[in-house]
Amino acid sequence: MLAARVRSAALAAGAGALVVLTPLSLTAQQSLPGYSAASAERQRRVETQAIAGADSARVRVHARELAREPHVAGTEAQARTRDYVIAQMKGFGLETQVRTYEVWMPHPTAAHVWRVAPDTLELPLQEGPVAGDPYSALPQYPTVNGYSGSGDATGEVVYVNYGLVEDYATLDSLGVSVKGKIAVARYGRSFRGIKAREAERHGALALLMYSDPQDDGYVRGDVYPEGPMRPPQGVQRGSVMNGQGDPSTPGWPSVKGARRLPVDSLDVPRIPVIPIGYGNASELLRGVRGTGIPQAWQGGLPFRYHTGPGPVRARVLVQNDTATRAYKPIWNTLGVLRGSEFPDEMIVIGAHRDGWGAGAADNVSGTVSVLEAARVLGELARQGVRPKRTLVFATWDAEEWGLIGSSEHVEDDSLRLQRGGVAYLNQDVAAQGVRFGGGGSPSLRSTLRSVAAQVPDPNGQGSVYAVWRKNAGVADSLEPRMGDPGGGSDFVGFYNHLGIPHSDWGFGGAGGIYHSTYDTPTWMEQFGDTNYAYHAAASRISAAMLLRLANADVLPYDYVEYARTLRGHVPALEQVMAAHGVTGGAGTLRAAFERMERAAASFAGTRDRRLAAGELPRAVRERTNRALLQVERAVVRPEGLRGRPWLRNVIYAADVDNGYANVVFPSVTEAAKSRDAALTATELADLVRRVDQATAALGAAEQALTR
Ligand SMILES: [Zn+2]
Repeated sequence: MLAARVRSAALAAGAGALVVLTPLSLTAQQSLPGYSAASAERQRRVETQAIAGADSARVRVHARELAREPHVAGTEAQARTRDYVIAQMKGFGLETQVRTYEVWMPHPTAAHVWRVAPDTLELPLQEGPVAGDPYSALPQYPTVNGYSGSGDATGEVVYVNYGLVEDYATLDSLGVSVKGKIAVARYGRSFRGIKAREAERHGALALLMYSDPQDDGYVRGDVYPEGPMRPPQGVQRGSVMNGQGDPSTPGWPSVKGARRLPVDSLDVPRIPVIPIGYGNASELLRGVRGTGIPQAWQGGLPFRYHTGPGPVRARVLVQNDTATRAYKPIWNTLGVLRGSEFPDEMIVIGAHRDGWGAGAADNVSGTVSVLEAARVLGELARQGVRPKRTLVFATWDAEEWGLIGSSEHVEDDSLRLQRGGVAYLNQDVAAQGVRFGGGGSPSLRSTLRSVAAQVPDPNGQGSVYAVWRKNAGVADSLEPRMGDPGGGSDFVGFYNHLGIPHSDWGFGGAGGIYHSTYDTPTWMEQFGDTNYAYHAAASRISAAMLLRLANADVLPYDYVEYARTLRGHVPALEQVMAAHGVTGGAGTLRAAFERMERAAASFAGTRDRRLAAGELPRAVRERTNRALLQVERAVVRPEGLRGRPWLRNVIYAADVDNGYANVVFPSVTEAAKSRDAALTATELADLVRRVDQATAALGAAEQALTR
């Protein structure tokens, strides 16, 4: 759903107060936390082998094969990617499984946009073929947003800027309404589902969303095929559903015979929503007059923008197969390497396998990172080097429609995952450039840094970690910033729903083809990752991350960094509280994180001493790790966030009014924003109690080590 590039842009926009840099931990670079000396030595050998094993020539073969045709969820092409991945995994010696779900996912059967005044012109919605890129000439999926409503609407055009909540407030103040009109919004600054929700809430008959040249078109650079940026006919497809998972089975898996909500109660848009290129947008916006715009609303098209309404009028038509074939099968694939010592403890790595077109970056690049890691580790297992914990190599279907495959999976397998889920590693847009970035739960960041320090950067200038540090330009005592979990990719089910620590990483670049037909191997080989070396590097990190977590004597979560990072977010929470007139009490949260940091430091000290003294008995490791698994489970509450029961982790969530940007301490932040002092106090107390439970789990882990 969400390209890494967009995610980092959203993070950069929300930077500032939420940024916490952690002091460089020298020990993390020199030793392997959670490993005894003997097991660390074995581990270093195995990781070195795995890192060397990934091969960019093999990656290129997989990438070209998986990107050979558009593979939208619910189409026959997705059955072909499923079969390819399963055949490969079998060949690697893994146990394989296909899990099928029937999900409510109507596909469009017709989509048209006309300008009907001052003259009549049908806008060409297809992204035409471009010279030199044979993939761009393949048949395309209709140009309609996923989960668009159907209908036939005609009205005056209103330009709504980014279609944000605050943009509609500005329109109100200008005396402009979209009621009964066709809204035109530019992409960016928020998840498109929020734009659709707001347009519908304000009474628009239909919504057209376009990519402004200022955001990823010619204002940024040369356009495809001359350069990597979005050409005038380039379209950002994508879902406009705001929830996660099959909307007809919220909270339970869409297995055969599952109970379904009635279709007219589903939480999806009712109005038609179509994405268009800036070529088409200019045909509509050029003639719009009426109220002048705030200067910030001016985009990159070569004329002055106005809000309207009118005098330009448009007609938008979407038809779909709701009546005849609304439910479609989707297929997750699993490849399993069973752990030799702790088979019930699992590390899951996943990538979504569906795309809106050929999807070379989004998400063939992530899929091949997982595939190549599976091959390398399958090979090692055949040589007798089996992981101690179980590794699951997953590809998810229908992520682009709302994280559907991964959400149905965690709903289907929640008990096993809750009990034994050690970590979830996500690969979404693993390589479309050369700049490394990573994120996830603060408990796994030091592990990712340590692994990145073992993997050579394809540019030959040192490790991925060293090049990353250099590009980030941070002081010696600091670490490059990593992204906090928000929304928009398959980690949400694992992290926000179940409380399983997660980590993700990838190599970003210019972008310009996000969710477009032009996200092809041709684009990739010219402008993204010319020889697939960064794909292979992402895969080397995948393999080493899996092994690091699979073989540790004591799971290497860093709860000192976790507590410190979260304590660093408390001032921002205090600002939000003050801004909404509900001050007081945040000090209790700061104190809770201080208690947690002390417990974590004490645990880590005991762990290191015990491991330095030699191998730990199996029973001790088992008890310690079982307690460690409870740390982040403790900050997940069964009833979830208010209004969003599926999101249960009270540390991070996607902003309810943005969808991409994250909110720290969402239960408290949302209570504060509602200006409800009593609720804020209750939520704060609940959060403190849960953080203290996490601290207690750390205490139990330390006790297990000393018993
Ligand atoms: Zn994606």
